[in-house]
Amino acid sequence: MNTTIPPDLRTQQEFLSQLIDCKHLIASGEPGVYGRGMEFERVRTAVDSLITSISAPDCPETPRFPPIIPKSTLEKAGYLKSFPNLCGAVFSFAGKESAAVDLLERVKRGDDWGMHLSMTDVVLNPAACYPAYPAVARRGPLPPGGILLDLGASYVFRNEPSPDPARLQVFHQREMVRMGDTDDVLQWRELWMSRATTIFARLGLDAKLDVASDPFFGRAGKLLANSQRAQNLKFEVLVPIASTERTAVASFNYHQEHFGSAFGIRLHDGGVANTACLGFGLERISLALFRKHGLETNTWSSEVRDQLGNWL
Ligand code: ZN
Repeated sequence: MNTTIPPDLRTQQEFLSQLIDCKHLIASGEPGVYGRGMEFERVRTAVDSLITSISAPDCPETPRFPPIIPKSTLEKAGYLKSFPNLCGAVFSFAGKESAAVDLLERVKRGDDWGMHLSMTDVVLNPAACYPAYPAVARRGPLPPGGILLDLGASYVFRNEPSPDPARLQVFHQREMVRMGDTDDVLQWRELWMSRATTIFARLGLDAKLDVASDPFFGRAGKLLANSQRAQNLKFEVLVPIASTERTAVASFNYHQEHFGSAFGIRLHDGGVANTACLGFGLERISLALFRKHGLETNTWSSEVRDQLGNWL
């Protein structure tokens, strides 16, 4: 019998084995959920610091948010309409002692115990920018010229277990958000698309910037994706990692008035704010660097090491 493994899957399995053998990733038993070894973390945090150094002259506010958000934020953001298949909600036990006994018996037997859990008011954050919108809306109207937030590296969750080490269920998104009028946010997005192209070139990665769309759910999602592309709302930087197709390592998203309307973010003159965000996938960029330049950082060229030098 011919049991050929698809070429992409073989490449991904081989790369994942190498990453685990080199102690860059630490297996958990679940696909897409890995610990990180010291050298991997050095690279990931060096990339993070490089982005911080480029963003710093813009004098952004630098708030930080936890990786869990109120359920209401996810609902208001419209996530469940667009990506119900990717969301992760937090469930916990709120039953009586007899139910707890049954729960433990079920665990012992290897049976399902989900019926004893009920949904809490929090969910895992799927996009690092989400907690920023209600927080800013609560402050009142934006100042003239709008605001800029650098949210740092935040853990996000997507329910998409995959054998591809570049498609994780939980990973660090390095996000920044601009809120203001249309010109404010589009000019800022343009600036960062140009900066990103420079960053990836200096890191020696074969990067392409292209118009893109989100993986919206269902048949209606195809129409949403087409409309998103037609309006140039999303761009991605794509690099080769472990698939025939390139993998997105950064995205630049113009939301128009979506989040401004959903969360009540106002301009100084009372109009609805426009927003844009950008996200760098820190694990994917690190994986792309190991893939391109080798599994040991001390063999990387001085050009690449110099870019990350102070932090590596
Ligand atoms: Zn975002």
